[in-house]
Amino acid sequence: MSNYPTPPFKSQKQPVPGDQSKMDPYPDCGEKSYKGSGRMANKIALITGADSGIGRAVAIAFAREGADVAISYLDEHDDAKETARWVEEAGRQCILLPGDLADKAHCSAIVNDTVKKFGRIDVLVNNAAFQMTHETFEDIPDEEWVKTFDINITAMFRICKAALPSMPAGSSIINTSSVNSDSPSPSLLAYATTKGAIANFTAGLAQSLGPRGIRVNSVAPGPIWTPLIVSTMTEDDITHFGKNTPLGRPGQPVEVAPIYVLLASDEGSYISGTRYGVTGGKPIL
Ligand code: NAD
Ligand code: MG
Repeated sequence: MSNYPTPPFKSQKQPVPGDQSKMDPYPDCGEKSYKGSGRMANKIALITGADSGIGRAVAIAFAREGADVAISYLDEHDDAKETARWVEEAGRQCILLPGDLADKAHCSAIVNDTVKKFGRIDVLVNNAAFQMTHETFEDIPDEEWVKTFDINITAMFRICKAALPSMPAGSSIINTSSVNSDSPSPSLLAYATTKGAIANFTAGLAQSLGPRGIRVNSVAPGPIWTPLIVSTMTEDDITHFGKNTPLGRPGQPVEVAPIYVLLASDEGSYISGTRYGVTGGKPIL
């Protein structure tokens, strides 16, 4: 058994997009535990949504494996600076790229800034997302439906398109999907629909890019303790978060990071077109 926190959690509703430093327990992004072993030596990674949560854990792991990291995020400057601090403490370079990925121009700007600084992109992690819970289908505002698609899937298309000219053979694209991709939660319908789209997009893109030597995979996390949760779920769902998994608790971001490292590293050279679950035992089929 692990020593990771189990529900019930304290009531702690936050406004979107959430502030990791205010969460209790503080999410474990591997700050004190992740050990690298040179598996990504001198690679260049661009990670969206890397200020906090899963993205931060991936940034810390990549840096400790030897990669330089560009971090895209919305506007959580303090969380982003904390991630950058850990990347730099690992002896790697980091740039911070705040801004709204619902804006088409910003999707190409984060790619251009990364390439300007580091010269290329070896690993692209499309991880930023928006979600909101609603009791009924009719409660979903039209604008929110469109916004969810813009941030979660359209931005992914645009960033991939902008990045590809700077991605050499051997590169890897990793898209964050969800257990919602094949087991949609009705209270998260717009979000769940985008996560199904991400899994499908990934499988199609892997076939397009295989001949160029570029691999594309998605990761489908189950419940993970991050700012996304405390800023969008109901208080009751937050308190009992992760309890309904076979392991009886949410995952911590650090527990998701190792699959991103495998998919990003050259050890994953024959892995493409697939979706990997990190779900605490919830089946994905
Ligand atoms: P998180 O809140 O730490 O990360 C999401 C990040 O997305 C935010 O930090 C924010 O900066 C960024 N973002 C949101 N809207 C944006 C916008 N308009 N423009 C630019 N950036 C924006 O939460 P997380 O749980 O680590 O989320 C990371 C990924 O994991 C998401 O794709 C999420 O859907 C996925 N996921 C999370 C869970 C979970 O239980 N936490 C489960 C399955 C999948
Ligand atoms: Mg954040």
